[in-house]
Amino acid sequence: MNIIKELNTFMEKNYSNYNSVDWFSSLEKYATKAAKYPLCECNGVWITENELKTINEIHDKVLERLAFTLLCLAKFRNFRNPNNNNWVNYSNGEIYSIACINTTAFEKDIKFNTLKELGLIEYAKKVDNLNIQVLYIDDDSENKLFISDFRKLGYEWRLYKGEKYIRCADCGILVKKSSNRKKYCKDCGKNIKNEQNKSYYYNNLGK
Ligand SMILES: [Zn+2]
Repeated sequence: MNIIKELNTFMEKNYSNYNSVDWFSSLEKYATKAAKYPLCECNGVWITENELKTINEIHDKVLERLAFTLLCLAKFRNFRNPNNNNWVNYSNGEIYSIACINTTAFEKDIKFNTLKELGLIEYAKKVDNLNIQVLYIDDDSENKLFISDFRKLGYEWRLYKGEKYIRCADCGILVKKSSNRKKYCKDCGKNIKNEQNKSYYYNNLGK
């Protein structure tokens, strides 16, 4: 129950429009799950020189993003569980969403298969299992890039490759820098506008 309370406090502090009633069952689910894992304070993972080199050598923008995402997720799981041995098990949908790749289910399978043919990943033996083992982790190579935000790993790769992305001034999520004035992500931009409209109302009309 303490975990739920902590999560609740965290959400209230960090999530505008947070409604504890709507979220209760989700928080309860996470809290139950959390009891199965040791608590870990993972501030992020280091990506090494050789790992970056392997991904750069794919020479396909979309596959590079997918490979980078799998790498970060596998390293995160290795941190959480030292016996993880470079495995990732998230749903295809989750992986592609974090990789910021929009594609069909058919294409998703083809892309995984291409990475397998390149010798970069291996599947779990069980056919009904989505487990993927990342084969290009090289922790002995020099640390080069620190990744601490796992929400948009595909954009982290694009940023690393020199594309124009900024972190939202409010929530920190990566967004494409479409203009010099852009400071916020879509959601935060909307919230800020709402707040401005509200205060305009109170200052001018609500008197
Ligand atoms: Zn934001």
